[in-house]
Amino acid sequence: MTQTKRNPSVVIIGAGMTGILMTIKLRQAGITDIVVLEKKESVGGTWRENTYPGAACDVPAHMYTYSFEPNPNWSRFFARGPEIKQYFEHVVNKYDVARDIRFNEAVTDAHYTDGKWTVKTNKGQTYIADFIVCATGILHHPQFPNIAGLGDFKGAKFHTAQWDHSVEITANTRVGVIGTGSTAAQAIPELIKTGAQVSVFQRTPQWLMHLPDFTFSKTSRKLMTRFPIITKFHRNTGKFFLEHFFTKAVTGQFIQKHLLSFLCKANLRLSIKDKALREKLRPHYQVGCKRVIINSTFYKGIQKPNAHLITEGIERITETGIITKDGNHHELDVLVLSTGFNAFNFMRPMNLVGRNNVHIDKAWAHKIKAYRSMLLSDYPNFFLMLGPNTPIGNFSVIAMSEVQTDYVIKLIDKWRDREFDEFEAKQQAIDDFTAYVKEGLKGTSWVGGCQSWYLDADGDPILWPYTWQRWVDEMKDPQMEHINTTTF
Ligand SMILES: Cc1cc2nc3c(=O)[nH]c(=O)nc-3n(C[C@H](O)[C@H](O)[C@H](O)COP(=O)(O)OP(=O)(O)OC[C@H]3O[C@@H](n4cnc5c(N)ncnc54)[C@H](O)[C@@H]3O)c2cc1C
Repeated sequence: MTQTKRNPSVVIIGAGMTGILMTIKLRQAGITDIVVLEKKESVGGTWRENTYPGAACDVPAHMYTYSFEPNPNWSRFFARGPEIKQYFEHVVNKYDVARDIRFNEAVTDAHYTDGKWTVKTNKGQTYIADFIVCATGILHHPQFPNIAGLGDFKGAKFHTAQWDHSVEITANTRVGVIGTGSTAAQAIPELIKTGAQVSVFQRTPQWLMHLPDFTFSKTSRKLMTRFPIITKFHRNTGKFFLEHFFTKAVTGQFIQKHLLSFLCKANLRLSIKDKALREKLRPHYQVGCKRVIINSTFYKGIQKPNAHLITEGIERITETGIITKDGNHHELDVLVLSTGFNAFNFMRPMNLVGRNNVHIDKAWAHKIKAYRSMLLSDYPNFFLMLGPNTPIGNFSVIAMSEVQTDYVIKLIDKWRDREFDEFEAKQQAIDDFTAYVKEGLKGTSWVGGCQSWYLDADGDPILWPYTWQRWVDEMKDPQMEHINTTTF
């Protein structure tokens, strides 16, 4: 007699893009015992937090969309943050995801004993589960700069991921922005548009690539609704461009690499008229070493009379502004910290304890690594979404989460079919995978000698150095020879 499949209990941590996706896919696979624990009051993760002016995706919106839920109504080529958040809310409503979400519950502890995970939250609740899926995001923990006097500033001060909308910024406001990454490149032109005096404190210039950002007309949206093939065409074109041009350029393909370099350099040359300003904005590292910024507004904004690019290093922050190394005091009313995220936290801080009482901080004390970016040794029946060496670069993270979700479901399915009760990555498999990735990193732009948020303490980028297709192929089926299984 054939046995029916087991129905596991699954705790998903986080209700951002990945947690929503995981809930839908698990349900579609027939798994019904799901609890999603979300520390904040609503869904959307990144797009709930990042409400700074100009927030937008920098991959084409039709590509930044779940494959099973195309959106013919995107209003722009690069959709703005509020519209992206609305999209996720629409998906949550359509698939009734919220019924499994417990909002305002942050996971503080997760402990594995006797084949089960015990998960505790800041509300004092305890959940017992067969599986944990950490969908806690990569760019989630704001990073603050280590600059003397940061705490002394008496004006309004906030990180871009915690934008204080109660602070009015008008033509008379003196705003200082620290940082020049992707977020700063989106926010600075919007600040400049208010007429405020905007001082941009640049430590390192960035390479910017111009891609036209246009609105989709009502007619074209109607056509896309009527003929889904047009929406699909937009998506596939975006994917083709990212996969065969962008990803290959930064992973070392000769033609794409040189073309990307040419386009970024030409963008700087053609966009910035003043030679002195152009030289200040010219990076002295190879294109792609830091994440290439896709942007069509920063160069225009920084040339406006109320924009001031300051390249002197910061000496210290005072009660009323910033002193630069040349002794100048820049008086400010508002200080914006566009200083990125701590990408190496992953699911931490969390009291995550695996088999044999191994704490995650101990497991990762020497290096943050995971087999196929997702599985750890000593952490049975545990999945880390978008873990180290997921191909995060200039590609849609949604596409990555979709591939990883299928992988999770395939492994859980084996458990459901009673092939095993417990699985975890072999330590050797984790080490081999890390070595395999490291070998590939040698040819990439990311090891081009610059400092970037991609690099871990050993200077190894936490990215995937091979092609997108290779990653998809290798993630297609769990290779069970790399995984330890136990049957109780
Ligand atoms: C400004 C910005 C722009 C971006 N633009 C793009 C882009 O153009 N294209 C792209 O592909 N990617 C982009 N990204 C990356 C983006 O983070 C991902 O695309 C995507 O949103 C990640 O979704 P996620 O659900 O994995 O993580 P998140 O969106 O970070 O969601 C994680 C969720 O987990 C919750 N959580 C975390 N810890 C706990 C805990 N202990 N207990 C309970 N809940 C917890 C958080 O509250 C959050 O809701 C951007 C990121 C930023 C910051």
